[in-house]
Amino acid sequence: MIITIRNHVSSEERSQLSALLCQLATDQRPLVSTTIDECEVIVLDDSRLDAQACNAIRQQSAVERVVQLNTPYKLVSRAFKAESTAIRVGNPENSSSVTIGGSAATPVVIAGPCAVESGEQLLATARAVKAAGAQILRGGAFKPRTSPYQFQGLGIAGLHLLAEARELTGLPVITEVMEPDMVETVAQYADILQIGSRNMQNFPLLLAAGSNSLHKPIMLKRGLSATIDEWLLAAEYIVAAGNPNVILCERGIRSFDPQTRNLLDLTCVPLLHELTHLPIIIDPSHATGRRELVPTMSRAGIAAGAEGLILEVHPDPNSALCDGRQSITPEQLQSIVRDIQLIGQILAGNINLSRIA
Ligand code: PEP
Ligand code: MN
Repeated sequence: MIITIRNHVSSEERSQLSALLCQLATDQRPLVSTTIDECEVIVLDDSRLDAQACNAIRQQSAVERVVQLNTPYKLVSRAFKAESTAIRVGNPENSSSVTIGGSAATPVVIAGPCAVESGEQLLATARAVKAAGAQILRGGAFKPRTSPYQFQGLGIAGLHLLAEARELTGLPVITEVMEPDMVETVAQYADILQIGSRNMQNFPLLLAAGSNSLHKPIMLKRGLSATIDEWLLAAEYIVAAGNPNVILCERGIRSFDPQTRNLLDLTCVPLLHELTHLPIIIDPSHATGRRELVPTMSRAGIAAGAEGLILEVHPDPNSALCDGRQSITPEQLQSIVRDIQLIGQILAGNINLSRIA
């Protein structure tokens, strides 16, 4: 149940509601209170409340609206908030500003190397992806690698290089954060914090990301074998902790077939658009693991209705320290950007296909 509190409620009305909720919350389930679209809300699990108790809540003078949902996730649900969330990225003081999601969205392209390897590599890639039409730069400074013997990223030095690349190109940057204690540090440098697949259910990290003091948006990648409900509940943790700016990223799920690195679940795009108001972007690089498949699956992702793409790009993919096999060149990126802009225009109804036929 989501209880929206009226504006300008008196302290008496507020304590009356609190007393009722405390009385009804007989078990150990927490009440979460947060702010959504400038409205104060309280969220609670109402599965054990009877109709009489629900009515008593509705009748409180402090209450503006009560929404009861039969899904385990609440605040991220489309049934709670019908309009699609638009997430503004970038700080006009040091970068351009980009909107991801919302009703009038054109597809956003995030591109850059899997890992920040050096200042030269990052800057050359940043300039090339900008020239190719990308609006946001990606680059991992802290890399969650399967083997402890693989390149682990440059750490803080990588964050400095990302900030420098933003300074020189004006592109907002996204980078991964792996530990709750690093959230505030990474938020000082990044315009979007990425929570990777392996950490989708790292609950202390989700809570820290949700309460980052700079209110930076979070891109939450789908866990390696996460169901849609588990993924949305992970997003719910971030939103319930106070950060409504969550972007979902489908990056492929585990399958039985080793031909591709993962299985790109494009069905999730229209499905998520029904279930949630949050924007969805597609990562065809990690989904396929093969650069020759990336252009087709990029087009397919946008055609399925995704709000954008995140693509691994390297000036010399074969020499990349991380994920070279799935990295495309800036030239390939340019042709993907052209294609998906066209698909975006068709989906927005700006191109009359009957005239072409
Ligand atoms: C990445 O974006 O480089 C990454 C490690 O992604 P994922 O968490 O999807 O594997
Ligand atoms: Mn990668």
